[in-house]
Amino acid sequence: MKRGKAIVLFSGGVDSTLALAWAIRSGYQPTVLEFDYEGRPEAEKRAAHTILRRLGSPPHVRLTLGASLRPDGETGGYLASQLPLHGMTAADRRRLAEELGAPVDLAWSCWKDGDRPCGRCEKCKERARSAPT
Ligand SMILES: [Zn+2]
Repeated sequence: MKRGKAIVLFSGGVDSTLALAWAIRSGYQPTVLEFDYEGRPEAEKRAAHTILRRLGSPPHVRLTLGASLRPDGETGGYLASQLPLHGMTAADRRRLAEELGAPVDLAWSCWKDGDRPCGRCEKCKERARSAPT
């Protein structure tokens, strides 16, 4: 079902990967909006790039923010005025990821950079608690 255009804020993290896969599956024509900021992990940028290719390379706008910024929550997950993941439990999100074939395994959540997540920062702990992978 065609539902028109949508803007999906996308970070390369688990929630925004799920939101983007959901938007595509739901029939939206998403334009991906990605924010770059000083200190953003290279691994997150690489993950974002890989995930976008995997999801068919939707139109993509990357904005660079001048100020240093550490997001205090997942940057993405919001779709236009919709919050597709709002109120979902970890089990719901796992099910949705499976159903959509969303490549959440490629997502990067860690605040640090490197070849693998540190496993100790708040984002890693949160992912271990609640994310599909
Ligand atoms: Zn971490």
